[in-house]
Amino acid sequence: MGERVCPRCNRKPDIPFIRGICARCYVEREIKLQQRVVVPHCPLCNRYMLSGRWSQYSMKEVLKSVALKLQRELERLFRGYDVYIKLDVDDGGEFTAVISDSHSSFRWRPDALLEVKHQICPDCSRKIVGHHAAIIQVRGIGGPLSRSEKESILELLDRLPQKVKGSIVEVKEVKEGIDIKVSEHSTARSIASRILAECPGTLKESYKLISRSGGEKKTRLNLSVRVSKPVKKKALVEYQGELAIAEWKAGGRVELQLIPSNKRILLDARESVSRIREYTGELEEVEIIGVSTDRVFFIKRGELEYDEVDLKSVIGAPEKGKKAFVVIVGGRRLLAILD
Ligand SMILES: [Zn+2]
Ligand SMILES: [Zn+2]
Repeated sequence: MGERVCPRCNRKPDIPFIRGICARCYVEREIKLQQRVVVPHCPLCNRYMLSGRWSQYSMKEVLKSVALKLQRELERLFRGYDVYIKLDVDDGGEFTAVISDSHSSFRWRPDALLEVKHQICPDCSRKIVGHHAAIIQVRGIGGPLSRSEKESILELLDRLPQKVKGSIVEVKEVKEGIDIKVSEHSTARSIASRILAECPGTLKESYKLISRSGGEKKTRLNLSVRVSKPVKKKALVEYQGELAIAEWKAGGRVELQLIPSNKRILLDARESVSRIREYTGELEEVEIIGVSTDRVFFIKRGELEYDEVDLKSVIGAPEKGKKAFVVIVGGRRLLAILD
């Protein structure tokens, strides 16, 4: 037992007295609140920020820094006394605080709470907003991509393997098309070639110097992909007032099959953009159910009764199960097969 009586608890504890009361009472009265220590953590690179520095700290290092902050806070509250914080990492990160003067000491378990706050670190946010290694700019040949064309590109990106998708930093719809920011050059090239495999068009590569720090040259790969419009391999179009089936070839060239003359014309990318229009007339989608030596049989979606045309009125290669369109040209009923 100590010499002094504590006016708060009426005991004579053999522990330090602080501002007239015993240390236990002082802790009870003064340290009512939980000591919360907030440590930022970046979920993208799995690093913590301690004392203003982002690094791959271990949980032990994080807890040590919490102990240090707690120590500083208690030193402020127990000015003139020795403060010591013991950290038991194995015991789930339990803290024990000890304050002592020249005669005695008092120990207790402060209610310290580590609060991990999710925060994107500056390195990762720079990666997201600007420091991507490559950018793919998807545009239409001769004009902006339409809503449905943008959607075709987005749908294509969605079908990419998970590993490739992981390198995509950002996909942004802009007025003229779509910008895809990619973290590596090789992945960017493979994405660009996948787009061109499905939507024929042109590719232009260029490099842009973005910084030169400490002799290290940093360049950004710019892939300008221009796809033929519409983003389809085959479509019914109007060419100088005539109905035609357009087939997009490599480099944005278009082969036209005029209906009903069956004449074939090849247009280059620029001509195709200015001369062909999407067909806006009436179309009826059907499915081919059988082909005989001189006739093709088909049904309308969801109907049971079949219809037929003679083989001379069929454009394309008829095959059971294929989709086709019934079009009326000059009063004549034709069956157009696009795939
Ligand atoms: Zn007391
Ligand atoms: Zn980060």
